Amino acid sequence: MEDVVDTLIPYVLKDYPEACVCPKCIDDIKALTLNNVPQHYVVTEKGEALTKARMLSSQFKADVLKEISISIKTVSKNPRHPLSEKVVSND
Ligand SMILES: [Zn+2]
Repeated sequence: MEDVVDTLIPYVLKDYPEACVCPKCIDDIKALTLNNVPQHYVVTEKGEALTKARMLSSQFKADVLKEISISIKTVSKNPRHPLSEKVVSND
C-alpha cells in the first residue's frame, strides 16, 4: 500500500505546482493518504493483505489518486513549517 502511494504521489503533484514538495510535506501527504484511503483496500474482511490484482484495479487507483489530491491540498494549506522554509526540489 505504502509503495503504491509513494509511486502515485509524484503524478498527482504535477497537478499542484504550488505545493511544497519538501520531505516533511511529502511525509505528511503520504501519512494522510494512508489514513484516508478506504480501509477495505488496506485490509480485507479476513485481515489478509490486499491482493495484487486489487491493487492494480483502475477503481483502486482512482480512489487513491483522489485521496492524494485531498492530502496535497490539506498539507499545502497547513504545512508543518513556515512557508519561508519552503524547500525547492532539485529532482
Ligand atoms: Zn514543505
